[in-house]
Amino acid sequence: MTDPVIVIHGGAWAIPERLVDVNISGVEDAARKGWGVLGKSGSALDAVVAAVKALEDNPVFDAGIGSVLTEDGTVEMDAMIMDGSSLGAGAVAGLHDIRHPVDLARIVMERTPHVLMIGDGARRLAEKYKVEKLTQKQLVTEEARRELAEWLEKKRAGTAFGHETVGAVALDAKGNLAAATSTGGMTGKLVGRVGDVPIVGSGGYADNKLGGASSTGHGEAIMKVNLARLVLTHVEAGALIQEATDRALAYMMERVAGTGGVIALDPKGNVGHSYTTPHMVWATARNGKIESGI
Ligand code: ASP
Repeated sequence: MTDPVIVIHGGAWAIPERLVDVNISGVEDAARKGWGVLGKSGSALDAVVAAVKALEDNPVFDAGIGSVLTEDGTVEMDAMIMDGSSLGAGAVAGLHDIRHPVDLARIVMERTPHVLMIGDGARRLAEKYKVEKLTQKQLVTEEARRELAEWLEKKRAGTAFGHETVGAVALDAKGNLAAATSTGGMTGKLVGRVGDVPIVGSGGYADNKLGGASSTGHGEAIMKVNLARLVLTHVEAGALIQEATDRALAYMMERVAGTGGVIALDPKGNVGHSYTTPHMVWATARNGKIESGI
């Protein structure tokens, strides 16, 4: 038996003062939802899904409702999930009308022989398994519109901008690890742009032998260094989990001038979290106790 734990992030970026409280209460609520599963001997997979769904429903975060907008003002969401016991993985990209993209990623993992699905195939799968839908109107928030207007004005392409991605990594009592990440991507992205989140090893990774990780930040940079797997590569080479998250982000900065954040757990439940942005909002739940920071 291991002591279960879940760690959550709600994005790494320059979180304005006016949004600090809602960010913290949002990740704490997600940690509580994840703990609600783990504390009753539930699985790490169910815990990360419960936590990420809470964040997808919270308009404060860039996932599900509240997703940031493409330069055309539309929503295109990506998500991934990974099961550390089997290295099973599922991911979806470019979704327009799904309330909980993480649910569809899990369906890809558990009900298809594939890992990543997009477009018409993802839409058909959502229909087949009756995944809950929302219209673009229901997904788009005033804040997302405001951010796009500001972005269009400043044309600040290429840097982490606006509110961001969510993710969770959990370890259950059986020693199984799982990771899940969900996002609307980056404000002002081109239509059809897919970021790091659905790329296994970039947006998230879980392997019972090494640990689990979930990333946030500049997707184009994260993909180039496979950030989540890079954390675990450092663990494999003997680093402690906090050293591993620090080193992976330092490498991303050094090699591709990319900023972001990552949360991680090792197989014993030790937590690592690092970021190279001004803030990253995070929370953990262990023994029913919630801790958070920004
Ligand atoms: N990594 C996400 C992406 O590039 C964005 C984020 O974390 O904010 O799509």
